[in-house]
Amino acid sequence: MKAAVLENEKFNIKDIEKPLLADKEGAIIKIHGSGLCGSDIVKIRTGAAKDGSVLGHEIVGEIVEINTKTPFKKGDIIAMGHHVPCFDCPYCFSGNYSMCRHFKSTNIFPGGFSEYVFISEEHLNNTVFAITPHLTDIEASFLEPLACCIRAVKKTGLKDRTKNLVMGLGSIGILMGEALKAYGNEVYGCDLIKERALLSENYGFDKSFVLKDEKQVLDEMKKYAPIGFDNVFLTAGASSALDFAVKAARDGANIIVFSSVKDNNGFKNNDIYYRELTVTGSYSPSPMDLEDSMNFLESGKVNVKGLSTVYSLNQINQAINDTLSNKIMKAYIQI
Ligand SMILES: [Zn+2]
Ligand SMILES: [Zn+2]
Repeated sequence: MKAAVLENEKFNIKDIEKPLLADKEGAIIKIHGSGLCGSDIVKIRTGAAKDGSVLGHEIVGEIVEINTKTPFKKGDIIAMGHHVPCFDCPYCFSGNYSMCRHFKSTNIFPGGFSEYVFISEEHLNNTVFAITPHLTDIEASFLEPLACCIRAVKKTGLKDRTKNLVMGLGSIGILMGEALKAYGNEVYGCDLIKERALLSENYGFDKSFVLKDEKQVLDEMKKYAPIGFDNVFLTAGASSALDFAVKAARDGANIIVFSSVKDNNGFKNNDIYYRELTVTGSYSPSPMDLEDSMNFLESGKVNVKGLSTVYSLNQINQAINDTLSNKIMKAYIQI
């Protein structure tokens, strides 16, 4: 089968062995397409993904072979999360499902940028959702990234009518804002790119700012959040955003860290102490977040129409370049 295989920070389209179900419990999925995740790009750039690996986890596809005790059957179109927690360890007991060692060790095989993957019975039991015909494949491919955002929103304690700032208005920033809205909150955004600030307002943001002159933007934000924002979400992956986030937050606010930064910069102890800030990381979704995500997509509470640009598997390197140069919001690799 065809797959995009990583070699020297680039993908080469190669013929590799198709995964076999044999006598295992689980299913073989014929991939329709996979969203290109920011984390895929980070894994390539940092060397976390080794040569020879096949990436891609935001998959949509059809069950073509199955051996299961679950109700899933051949012909079902599914979207899914790729990691499964054990529900029976200190991490899981504390709700830190994405830190569960079992969660980290589970995955689809070999990866979504290929024609077929094997998924386990555990996936079928916990993280796989059948797609109804009124969701398109591209819409369904947002199941996992939207679930990541829902998890981050839940980490704020899920109070409604809060004032939130999302810093970084790429596709994840937009999804974060829409998730916050779906839970009944006010959402403000900021980005260096004017088009992205404008676009976010089409997806329900109450107001977005172009981050040019920091002081001017902070002054303008005061009109909407006089004492600062209750929650600030960092979806930009830029160290320069940390300082601004602290300034935009109200005393006692939550700062949700949702992206890695290159230079490993951090928050200042005394800001956190004297201003009673809570800095919270949010990483990857639990099965419950995936379920909430599916409900938001199915009900139309979160609208993902128009966010994706479609590429063929052969164009995957172009998709990465266009993502990195901010030419597109989100790439969907059609297989
Ligand atoms: Zn992802
Ligand atoms: Zn666990």
